[in-house]
Amino acid sequence: STVPPKILNNGVEMPQLGFGVWQVPDDEAERAVATALETGYRSIDTAAIYGNEEGTGRAIAASGVAREDLFVTTKLWNGDQGYDATLRAFDESLAKLGLDYLDLYLIHWPLPARGKYVDTYKAFEKLHADGRIRAIGTSNFLPEHLQRLIAGTSVIPAVNQIELHPHLQQHAAREYHAEQGIATEAWSPLGQGKGLLEVPAIIAIGQKHNRTPAQVVLRWHIQLGNIVIPKSVTPSRIRENIEVFDFILDTEDLAAISALNEGRRIGPDPATFDVG
Ligand code: NAD
Repeated sequence: STVPPKILNNGVEMPQLGFGVWQVPDDEAERAVATALETGYRSIDTAAIYGNEEGTGRAIAASGVAREDLFVTTKLWNGDQGYDATLRAFDESLAKLGLDYLDLYLIHWPLPARGKYVDTYKAFEKLHADGRIRAIGTSNFLPEHLQRLIAGTSVIPAVNQIELHPHLQQHAAREYHAEQGIATEAWSPLGQGKGLLEVPAIIAIGQKHNRTPAQVVLRWHIQLGNIVIPKSVTPSRIRENIEVFDFILDTEDLAAISALNEGRRIGPDPATFDVG
């Protein structure tokens, strides 16, 4: 594979670029993951709530790629938070994926008003200690949630997966993660492909390097040190999105993209999001 690894805080290597399957129905996910694996992706990001762990698992099983060469992430859904419920939900996800261990398990949302994420994470620590998960982490945790988690548990999260793209650059979160040794993983790295890929500055940088806007944005993430998991079900885009390791943005390009920060979320605010 052409994708370089990011070394997590427990020494586990995670590909810096992987394939996301949010909003992809199970059958379509099976086809898309199969295409991604053929194209050279080795990291897949799914979640219990996406409803496509089975399709993802079928594609993995059929791919012929050795298990140790794959990096599979799934996420615990909100309604399954709590120690015992987490242990059950993990078994279910693993069975749906058809795997006997997971590479990375994330708490999908903190749901601070429910006050369960510390107990939930203690179940993650047990699964990790039992050798059933190689790395454990969080998603959508604000620094204040991470602080409380770290104070109440013993394994520092390996990864926090958060909304992050040129319109929402998350400087404070990235800085806090770096201080704590937590890798930053960007969800919706392309800003969901909407306005971001039509921004003139991004198009211009692409023309300069003979690259597409999506490749420019993904390359920006890579040079910042973010882990990225772009999603596409279109084979040509799946290929395009992984071909970002043979060009370099210069300081002028990086500065032009830095200037696009609007600090505005597409997705929900983790402080108040509370469904499921
Ligand atoms: P994204 O930023 O990856 O954008 C995907 C969309 O961009 C596609 O549907 C397509 O419309 C467009 N696109 C993709 N490649 C393109 C290309 N080369 N050229 C032009 N357009 C292109 O958005 P996403 O799916 O929201 O995020 C990626 C992954 O992050 C998800 O699939 C999921 O795995 C993860 N995610 C996690 C959370 C969370 O709460 N943890 C939330 C959202 C997404």
